[in-house]
Amino acid sequence: MAFFNERWETMDQDQLKEVQLKKFQDQVQRMYKNSFYKKRFEETDITPDDIKNWEDIKKAPFTYKNDLRENYPLGLLTGNWEEVVRVHMTSGTTGTPTPMVYTQNDVNVWAECMARNFIAGGLKKSDVVQQAHGLGLFTGGLGFHYGLERAGAKVIPTSSGGTERQLRLMQEWGTTVFTGTPSYAAYIAEIAIERGIDPVKDLKLRLGFHGGEPVSGELRQRIDERIGYKAHGGGMRTCYGLTEMGGPIGMDCESTNGIHLWGDHYLVEVLDPETLEDVEAGNAGELVLTNLSFEAMPILRYRTGDRVVVNFDTCECGRTHPRITNFLGRVDDMLLVSGTNVFPSQIEFVLLRHPGMSENWQLVVGDNRGLHTLKVEVEPVQGAQIDNAFVKELEKELHSHLEITCKVDIKPIGTLPRFEGKAVRVRDERI
Ligand SMILES: [Zn+2]
Repeated sequence: MAFFNERWETMDQDQLKEVQLKKFQDQVQRMYKNSFYKKRFEETDITPDDIKNWEDIKKAPFTYKNDLRENYPLGLLTGNWEEVVRVHMTSGTTGTPTPMVYTQNDVNVWAECMARNFIAGGLKKSDVVQQAHGLGLFTGGLGFHYGLERAGAKVIPTSSGGTERQLRLMQEWGTTVFTGTPSYAAYIAEIAIERGIDPVKDLKLRLGFHGGEPVSGELRQRIDERIGYKAHGGGMRTCYGLTEMGGPIGMDCESTNGIHLWGDHYLVEVLDPETLEDVEAGNAGELVLTNLSFEAMPILRYRTGDRVVVNFDTCECGRTHPRITNFLGRVDDMLLVSGTNVFPSQIEFVLLRHPGMSENWQLVVGDNRGLHTLKVEVEPVQGAQIDNAFVKELEKELHSHLEITCKVDIKPIGTLPRFEGKAVRVRDERI
């Protein structure tokens, strides 16, 4: 097992906790100079000077998504604007964007975290990587790019799109690693096969680092087989990240038993969202993160809204840092349909248990005289035999998972949209 920074990645857990406490104390002192955080602290009965031990961390105030939006663009800046070298933000399609700014040191820390991830996932210096996460304001593209370079691989920054060219470059340069959204990997494999390119025989892809969407075990297995990762001795690694913490920050290691987060740079808490106490080991809770190393815009105890299970024990790869072992859903992706919470990832989980169902699907939320309706449109795979009895069975399974009625509409192959970036799985036609 190779490491990018073995000393830090395998650090004794007690020592790691000491480092975290020290960095947390320094970070809140830095934040206290900013008027937003000063006010937040004034709403509690402590000041940064009162944080003396691990328990005191729990008394520090939280930060929420709205805080970043309401203080757009620079209200949460705790560093010096003169030192800022990079700006990213979310697309802001549903309101004010969520901003993030970086000093050179912040960019370096982020690149180090990503380099550790890539090496942990099996990347080698000899690998040729096509980096197809979109380059731009979105954190994914440049976050991957800098980390891959830091890890020493050969990066071809294709960005997303241009599928025919992506395939040509894969053949010309003998590309071994592909990065992009999972749905783009599925799409590239589909187009390759259509063009008579056998990904197993004609391409050399052995690793995929995929972020931007939750991935079910079934989809992972399908992509591993179809694009050739498995046949070439590797597999898909999935990524966790969010703009508020700098971008993509965590990834599966080669053992694929959880997404590693780096405790020396991020303080990881899993809280019961009602009581705000730590959940017991192995239980699901809300992920709360503090950026311990950033200078320009570190965020304090950020309530991610992500429901996760985290394992704090040492991984079989030897890394001592926490791992997200189960990602149950992101609040932003959740739909409220007739009073029931629906996560689109639950639908994919049900669909892909059936070999006859493809990963091309969409959820249509409709409105029938004020009553919300759910319909899944899905394409079968080539050659699948689909009859009415199967459709009825699928509707029954969806109902038992979602606890709400959901119609199934089988569509002809090639009629539903394909995605080169983040897949749009929901069509909300409610008035
Ligand atoms: Zn590991």
